[in-house]
Amino acid sequence: MSESGAIDFSSPGESYSKLHHLEDREPVLTGASLLLVDDKPELLNSLYQLISLRGYRADTALGGQQALNLLADKHYDVMLLDLIMPGVNGHDVLDYVAKQKLDCKIIVVSGDASFSGVKHALHCGAFDFVKKPYEAGELVATMETALRQCHLESQNRHMAAQLDESEKLHRFIVNSSPDLVYMLDRNGCFTFINDRVESLLGFSKEELIGKHYSELVHENHLEAANNVFNERRTGDRAVANREIRLKSRIGLKGAQLFHDQAVWMELTAEGVYSDPNERTRDHFLGTIGTVRDISERKEAEEKINFQAYHDLLTHLPNRALLRDRLSLAITQARRNKRKLAVMFLDLDRFKLVNDTLGHSMGDRLLKAVANRLQSCLRRGDTLARFGGDEFTLLLPEVRTRDDVVVISSKILDRLNSPFIIDGHELFVGASIGISMYPEAGDSEETLIQNADIAMYHVKGRGKNGYQFFSDEMNHQFSTRLTLERELRNGLNQGELRVYYQPQVSLATGRIRGFEALVRWQHPSRGLVEPADFLPVAEETGLITQIDEFVQRQAFSDVAEWHQAGLGDVHISVNLSATQLEQESFVDRFVGTMETAGLEPTSVKLELTENILMQDMEVIIPKLKEMRRLGVNIAIDDFGTGYSSLSYLQQFPITTLKIDRTFVCDIRAEHGGASIINAIVAMARGLNLDLIAEGVENRTQLRYLQAQGCSEGQGFIFSRAVPAAEVKELLRSDPYQKLVREEQTESAATV
Ligand code: C2E
Ligand code: CA
Ligand code: CA
Repeated sequence: MSESGAIDFSSPGESYSKLHHLEDREPVLTGASLLLVDDKPELLNSLYQLISLRGYRADTALGGQQALNLLADKHYDVMLLDLIMPGVNGHDVLDYVAKQKLDCKIIVVSGDASFSGVKHALHCGAFDFVKKPYEAGELVATMETALRQCHLESQNRHMAAQLDESEKLHRFIVNSSPDLVYMLDRNGCFTFINDRVESLLGFSKEELIGKHYSELVHENHLEAANNVFNERRTGDRAVANREIRLKSRIGLKGAQLFHDQAVWMELTAEGVYSDPNERTRDHFLGTIGTVRDISERKEAEEKINFQAYHDLLTHLPNRALLRDRLSLAITQARRNKRKLAVMFLDLDRFKLVNDTLGHSMGDRLLKAVANRLQSCLRRGDTLARFGGDEFTLLLPEVRTRDDVVVISSKILDRLNSPFIIDGHELFVGASIGISMYPEAGDSEETLIQNADIAMYHVKGRGKNGYQFFSDEMNHQFSTRLTLERELRNGLNQGELRVYYQPQVSLATGRIRGFEALVRWQHPSRGLVEPADFLPVAEETGLITQIDEFVQRQAFSDVAEWHQAGLGDVHISVNLSATQLEQESFVDRFVGTMETAGLEPTSVKLELTENILMQDMEVIIPKLKEMRRLGVNIAIDDFGTGYSSLSYLQQFPITTLKIDRTFVCDIRAEHGGASIINAIVAMARGLNLDLIAEGVENRTQLRYLQAQGCSEGQGFIFSRAVPAAEVKELLRSDPYQKLVREEQTESAATV
């Protein structure tokens, strides 16, 4: 071994064997970068050999200056540095490394074993010290210790960097979560809230940390919130997706509010324990969870809910909601032994508006009607739209029938004043059927159905009124469906009859003709009035078959009376809109007259204004054709529709039939009704015949005679009677005396 301590690799010796021994051990970090510094080439070389043998690679620097040059552009993990070198020596290199803060472990390899030199070197940051002449094993071991240290440090650095990253990441994830993330301590106070709270609820984190959760919960939801925020369970058993309302200072479109408002949130919660395996009271730390904004979803749900339970046009509750409320009201009424009322309301002239002025007008009218109806109700009452022009009212707090009468009258009153829409003056009016709990039923089903049946009775009896359901009605027909079935059956079985009511000349008292009125001879119910089955017949279209039957029967009866020489009487028949709308109407009607052998001049059609208004372009040509054939045409129930004079003039009519409500208004005290005077004047002006219906007493008869009304029909003369009785009437012609008596009376008073 030389003085400098380098190993002579050419001669095998102790160092060699030691090296071989060293080779058995795994080299440390062969990828590390090493720098060997010595001013003596042979020493440098032998150091290099030693390192290489061990499997390392290294750069070499011959002297201090070279070492500085290399250090300037490359990083070295470990440097083996000779201290004593000419020019730039080992201390200078150490200084440089310290100054530059290079991360390089320096092992000083030097013969300068003086304490001060080594001390100075270590002081200047050298990692360790190996004395020359060195022992190969010791040198390698020292070097590898340095390398291991390097490796550990770099691993630590890496880990620290990674930890830092992941902490940042988690913080980022938590804070940018669309959900609010919170943690409560075991007392229910916030210990953590992420940034989301600010944009979600408008509170700052600082404001809430340390506060109890209840300060954030809407008062109505405190109980539900207690279940959530006190969650101690974990995992699958913990609270998930509980919906409660929290306070928020965020308004629509993110505007900051001055007052709290409640917003729908979905919460999760789970207990946190200091030891996950020991979920005991002692280990319970608090609760952790998320809060998600579900206000949009809630809004959508509410909208869907609204649509499912409301009518979209009027925004009133629909059938389903009414049923719900009714069933609840029944339960309460039963418990409190109270009454309740259900009203079924059908508009009388809605279809006319819809057909003549269009659907959008119809819609606007319905909305206006809904508003007026609503204004008649009290809190707690429910007004629902059942579809079309049908409304249902639930009055859960009524004491007597009189209460209901008051409300019904109020509704009719309000609906009777005209609606002004788009410059049109529209008259509707309504028919109201009423059923009361418990008399008229004790289930939603029966109460609604019976109110409906009662409503149909109002419709049948001239409309625009109200009626309570009575058991008799129920005995008549339990449902519209059975009625329809039985009516169809009755038509086929020949159960329909035609009755005749005389129309009498008010000048002579002689019978001028008859109105044909249908009756139904029901096998078990007896004689059924048209009011009880025509509404359903109209609804189902059976009315056309009924009309045609009545016309066939009436024409052949009248033809028979003519042939029997009983007088040249005419026959009035009622037409329905459906029959008139038939394309083949004229042909069929003419066919019926021909079959019976009846002259068209003996026939009079009775049409209501409502029917005339349906589809004028189609109806007018048909009526003109009938008129051309000699058939007479009367407007029935005249004065109840709202046809104007200009409308009427377009129709080829011959007669006005004054509605019985006006006749009914004639009373002894004030003599006349101005409407009748107006109709009489109008008939004169248009050169039309006049007939008054519903004449029941002498006062009315006298007044009509005095006004110059030419014909009358009513109970004062006769009710409608079967064909067999007509012959007897025609033979005796019994009203002449009565009419003449009143005629002289009226002449005397006028
Ligand atoms: P309408 O055409 O106005 O017929 C007159 C109704 O007034 C008849 O009722 C008749 O009995 C009743 N009446 C007659 N005089 C008096 C009176 O002095 N006082 C009172 N309070 N009432 C009187 P009815 O027979 O029950 O017919 C009711 C309605 O049924 C008729 O009203 C008519 O619109 C319809 N109708 C009857 N038969 C037919 C038919 O064959 N076809 C069609 N389409 N409708 C019919
Ligand atoms: Ca009639
Ligand atoms: Ca009439």
